[in-house]
Amino acid sequence: MTSTAEQTTAKQPLVTDLQSVIGERNVVWRPEDLLLYEYDGSIDRSAPRVVALPGSADEAAECVRVANRHDAYIVPRGAGTGLSGGAVPLRDSVVIGLARLSRVLEVDVENRVAVVEPGLVNIELSNHVEQFGLYYAPDPSSQKACTIGGNVAENAGGPHCLALGTTTNHVLGIEVVLADGTLLWLGGPSRESSGYDLRGAFIGSEGTFGIVTKVAVRLLRIPEKIHTILAAFTSLDQASQTVSDIIAAGIVPAALEMMDRVTIDACEPVYHPGYPADAEAVLIVEVDGLTEAVDEQSALVEKICNNNGASELREADDVEKRADLWATRKGAIGAFGTIAPSYYLVDGVVPRTKLRQVMRQVQTVGNELGLTIGNVFHAGDGNLHPCILFDERSHGEVQKVIQAGEQILEICVEHGGALSGEHGIGIEKQAYMPLVFTEDDMSAMKGLREAFLNPEHADDEAGVAGRTPVSERFNPGKIFPGGASHGEAYGITEHSVRRSGRGDEV
Ligand SMILES: Cc1cc2nc3c(=O)[nH]c(=O)nc-3n(C[C@H](O)[C@H](O)[C@H](O)COP(=O)(O)OP(=O)(O)OC[C@H]3O[C@@H](n4cnc5c(N)ncnc54)[C@H](O)[C@@H]3O)c2cc1C
Repeated sequence: MTSTAEQTTAKQPLVTDLQSVIGERNVVWRPEDLLLYEYDGSIDRSAPRVVALPGSADEAAECVRVANRHDAYIVPRGAGTGLSGGAVPLRDSVVIGLARLSRVLEVDVENRVAVVEPGLVNIELSNHVEQFGLYYAPDPSSQKACTIGGNVAENAGGPHCLALGTTTNHVLGIEVVLADGTLLWLGGPSRESSGYDLRGAFIGSEGTFGIVTKVAVRLLRIPEKIHTILAAFTSLDQASQTVSDIIAAGIVPAALEMMDRVTIDACEPVYHPGYPADAEAVLIVEVDGLTEAVDEQSALVEKICNNNGASELREADDVEKRADLWATRKGAIGAFGTIAPSYYLVDGVVPRTKLRQVMRQVQTVGNELGLTIGNVFHAGDGNLHPCILFDERSHGEVQKVIQAGEQILEICVEHGGALSGEHGIGIEKQAYMPLVFTEDDMSAMKGLREAFLNPEHADDEAGVAGRTPVSERFNPGKIFPGGASHGEAYGITEHSVRRSGRGDEV
């Protein structure tokens, strides 16, 4: 990874060329300013060569053409809240930041469709369309900061994606810039489309296929009634059993989230929720829809909570009281700062029925390595988020934290789960890809990435010695094993995944 010390303070021709297309003030090139762009929400770090902040899709396309002329790699960036190192620029890349493209371009109330720019902050879309009785469903817990473009690139989920699906289920079309600077739409604002679903292939490609410059999204009508239930339990097992029982009863709540004791302890001094002193787990269950159905399902959820020994139930229908019940869950990650200065949020998936067992194993990993782990996660879809709390300034801590993360992901895979529920592979999980994918699987994925490149451009570059491989023009070194070493900024260069799954040992 490139350090800022290696950055030249002299203005490069690349900088001047970018300035000529987007204006001097929209190009960040001084080493001290570039520091802001060397990280995201993960622990990996690497400085960019230069950052371009285009103000329109055409300008973004022009920036790509300039980067091509200078044979530079490109990393798209939204708000930098990603948790797998996706926006961390490897190989002296040009970062193209989309923060200035933050407008709602169109709202078609009748057809419940909006067209927005990629730098729009997620929550601002729902805030904007609330006046029409509409909302945008995917709600990552980072929704006050993350962008719609970043959500598309990561196929982001959120507490309310249990019943309604993740970003891909709510995006109708995207305008993208490809590697040669071509701008085109994949899908569009219409609800029906024919031909290959290139939109679907692009969503979740983690910035490796191109840059998203516009997004057409599906909007939903705000439900007639929303009922939130918070249940405290004296054991994690009781809470996990409640999750299984709710789903087994045929209810698919709008949200089904869990927090454990460590998380409760972190939240108490910040949000003062006053949970029972003996609470080992708190569940938040939200049911929405037509009033009659909501009343019926809420009664059933309460019964299931009580049957499993809930020590306290709180309920709310109105906006403010519901927001109170959600405050701890939505702000939990920030509250972890009361326990330790750094956190490492693991993102793995397990079948819901394995929750209890896996949670115990996660606890054992923490105990064995002497690490505190808080759990705050989307329990309804088995998307675990063990949050390892540590101090990155303490010698050897990062090494232990990465080891714990590896072991937790291995446990998820052993139980038939997945490497990521929503945060992507990025730098963080590429060494673990062989746990679930064979070489052939990964070649097929790389083939798809190459298909998104303009063949004419690829031909231009083929065989030209010393040129950057065009197949990796966008976001090089991400997703596939060997691209980068997770934790390298802390001197960690080796990863030992102990058990191999379908792929080879790494
Ligand atoms: C406290 C906290 C809570 C979180 N909770 C959730 C959650 O509940 N659910 C969830 O899914 N995630 C969650 N995240 C992770 C993160 O917020 C999401 O991955 C989000 O989608 C990233 O958006 P961003 O704008 O910050 O993207 P960035 O971090 O800037 O980029 C993420 C990736 O997207 C690519 N990218 C960004 N913009 C574009 C674009 N316009 N075109 C092409 N590629 C692009 C980047 O290259 C990178 O690979 C959380 C993060 C934090 C810090």
